[in-house]
Amino acid sequence: MQVKLASSYGFCFGVKRAIKIAESYKNSATMGPLIHNQNEIDRLKENFNVGLYTSLEEVKNNDTVIIRTHGIPKEDLKNLKKNKDAKVINATCPFVTTPQQIVKKMSKENYSILIFGDSTHPEVKGVKSYGENQDDVHVVMSVKDLDKINFKHDRIATVAQTTKKKEVYLEIVNALILKNKEVRVFNTICDATFENQDAARDLSKEVDIMIVIGGKNSSNTKQLQAICLEYCKDSYLIENSKELDKSWFKDKKLCGITAGASTPDWIIQEVVNKIEKI
Ligand code: SF4
Repeated sequence: MQVKLASSYGFCFGVKRAIKIAESYKNSATMGPLIHNQNEIDRLKENFNVGLYTSLEEVKNNDTVIIRTHGIPKEDLKNLKKNKDAKVINATCPFVTTPQQIVKKMSKENYSILIFGDSTHPEVKGVKSYGENQDDVHVVMSVKDLDKINFKHDRIATVAQTTKKKEVYLEIVNALILKNKEVRVFNTICDATFENQDAARDLSKEVDIMIVIGGKNSSNTKQLQAICLEYCKDSYLIENSKELDKSWFKDKKLCGITAGASTPDWIIQEVVNKIEKI
């Protein structure tokens, strides 16, 4: 099988930075998964004894706690510092810190806040928590959700989850402008995601099969697969080389490969090596 890698794929700046931080704090623990990739989390545990807390209750006094790339809610951060006296190492990606700070500032200035994103995603939960008036911080997934919202002000500030599609954000923003006096739009969508998405789109047009490597719970990776499926119906999402199925490659010649922003190079290389032998 011939293999072609997308011109941009894999780890983004924020994830590289978080891993570097975690590697430099042996015997610490992360608050929630550091990144959306179980294999890398296992590697950090094995090589650096970086553990994982799933709730604040698990943290013991004076622990060293690393905040994951997606950030955590403001109250949790406060609790860690105050009640647990934990040494807090913040590995939140700066591109996630930005919407947190925008929400804080704009809600202080009496803007109603609209977040375009998935309300169940840790990043969005974290960003939302920075709103001064939680009753007036709203999260939507699409333009349709706007009908259900009662904004307290006619001045709206919007931010987007970093991995969201710009086209959908524009639809939401257009609808807001039609109904409100003032709309402040902050483009908080991350370019790293786009670079990988554009490269995956281009590659999926020219190959017989696409393999997308990444965490199955990563919205970024799932979005990559959705893009590939638009142009290549044989696009598969796998977490590692063990999940490759030989039957997918029957009668195929050229296999394209891309990887989500939390996928380490060593996993990608293992997949490439295995496919090349098919
Ligand atoms: S995809 Fe962008 S926002 Fe998310 S961690 Fe990477 S650099 Fe940060």
